[in-house]
Amino acid sequence: MKLVVLGAGESGVGTAILGKQKGYEVFVSDKSEISKKYKEVLLNNNIEFEEKQHSEEKILEADVVMKSPGIPDKVPLIKQLKEKGVLVISEIEFAYKYSKSVLVGITGSNGKTTTTMLVNHILKKAGLNVGMGGNIGKSYAQQVAEDNFDIQVLELSSFQLDGIKTFAPHIAIITNITPDHLDRYEYQFENYINSKFRITENQTVNDFLIYDADDEIITNWLQNNEVKATLLPFSLEKELEQGIFIKDENIILKYKTEETIMNTKTLAIKGQHNTKNAMAATMAAALLKVRKDTIRESLEDFEGAPHRLEPVLKINGVEYINDSKATNVNATYYALDSMQTPTVWIVGGVDKGNDYLDLMPLVREKVKAIVCLGLDNQKIVQTFCNVIDLIVETAGAEEAVKVAYKIAEKGDTVLLSPACASFDLFENYEDRGEKFKQAVREL
Ligand code: ADP
Repeated sequence: MKLVVLGAGESGVGTAILGKQKGYEVFVSDKSEISKKYKEVLLNNNIEFEEKQHSEEKILEADVVMKSPGIPDKVPLIKQLKEKGVLVISEIEFAYKYSKSVLVGITGSNGKTTTTMLVNHILKKAGLNVGMGGNIGKSYAQQVAEDNFDIQVLELSSFQLDGIKTFAPHIAIITNITPDHLDRYEYQFENYINSKFRITENQTVNDFLIYDADDEIITNWLQNNEVKATLLPFSLEKELEQGIFIKDENIILKYKTEETIMNTKTLAIKGQHNTKNAMAATMAAALLKVRKDTIRESLEDFEGAPHRLEPVLKINGVEYINDSKATNVNATYYALDSMQTPTVWIVGGVDKGNDYLDLMPLVREKVKAIVCLGLDNQKIVQTFCNVIDLIVETAGAEEAVKVAYKIAEKGDTVLLSPACASFDLFENYEDRGEKFKQAVREL
């Protein structure tokens, strides 16, 4: 059997390793230059590869093609493969075939990484043999090839889900659905929503779907579509007959029995959105029979992921927070919502079609000044110039931090939560977050 892997990143190289182990004739092809790290892995494993080109003839001979999530369906080569009837799948589909672990799959527009890390943290603390993968760290495919985890916690993007045929996690979580990546979905929100729900399409009556009951996009979809898995919603707003919700500031879990898990005040990570993430993770852990005390302790000592509402330093009574991962309006909404003191807000970058009006009430309430950090800040300036007196444009992390430092007074917060992608001024959101933190440390 011939396996062609398109794209030699983390998921591609992992698939190649697993394919080779399972006896496939493997060929890896990448249109760009392959990074040194991955080239070495391919060489060490005697895997044939090419870079800076796609040898179409050879690729079209494949029995199965693993396409990396970064490659859109509309590129001619993928169209050709599909027309020829070649099976084109994603890494998680390929790995699933050989995986013996119980799977917890997590998708959503925001909160995937945080929730994935939370579930992993709780299960680890419970002493379970658990591996974390998907969009984080070592690929799922490589873990299937090399490790023997009883449970796999997987962060799943919609692009990974687009390439499944049989993949079915035992426990699925959809954190929320808001418009994102629409350029890859013909600008139809509906297509993106359907893509997220593919996480449950192969689940059976023995499986579970955990989701946000306060998210109308999700609840509407569920009203109009059938799901086999047991539904376990979470809600901040209402008590539920079955699921997990808040009552008198306590997290209550109701499935078969009713239990009070903990007080929300002692959650280590702050903000309403993180309470939701914690509820989703709690439900998953409880289904895997983790004791309530272990869940509570884990949620109290979880350190959080970098670049997500990450506290950096307190200088002259001013708190600096790095939320560089907030690349859309919804993520920034929750960041502003969780601010407790007057906020100097650093915002901007590459706008993916943002509607900033959603933020208006929070900006009026919490923001004292805006520091724009982007090449084109027109839309931000126009939207907020009537409600915020002080708006300053900057074009670098260091400059933005210096300006914010001048404006902020004792008791204020300086928040980097850009609501935009980063690639006008930075390599990626990590680079933006690191440069911000560096600039703060140098103040
Ligand atoms: P993802 O992996 O889906 O991008 P992350 O956990 O990396 O999600 O968080 C991305 C951004 O969204 C961060 O700014 C974070 O503070 C914010 N965020 C986290 N969880 C949620 C949520 N449940 N709803 C909305 N925003 C969230």
